Amino acid sequence: MDGKRKIRKSEEEWRNILTPDEFHVLREKGTERPFTGKYVDRKKKGIYVCAGCGNELFSSDTKFDSGTGWPSFWTPISEDSLEMKPDNSLGIRRTEVLCSQCGGHLGHVFNDGPKPTGQRFCVNSAALHFKERKASVEETKE
Ligand code: FE
Repeated sequence: MDGKRKIRKSEEEWRNILTPDEFHVLREKGTERPFTGKYVDRKKKGIYVCAGCGNELFSSDTKFDSGTGWPSFWTPISEDSLEMKPDNSLGIRRTEVLCSQCGGHLGHVFNDGPKPTGQRFCVNSAALHFKERKASVEETKE
């Protein structure tokens, strides 16, 4: 399943390039507390990329207010951006969403999203970096 991953790093290498929050979510499958992430209420136009490897994951055009306290999207930028995996931890049947390029944990996907897909990609802010669309490749920090 992880055969197409282009980016592989040791735990130590990831620790060196990620913040503690990013490492916890991406590499230890952590979940940030709801309404604490920096992108929950962000409405600017742009692209959300993987905080671990820069892979383009979601567009602001598909972000919606789910009321859950986590950034929510109804579709990824491309099916190839993500990898889905059954997750039965905590006694709950869920589908985990990972970055297809580095294998970083992003969040989960549920079937109670809005039209047209009916999907809700529930993603941790700590797994994402935001790039304002008109700012080309410059990353915005606020
Ligand atoms: Fe990644």
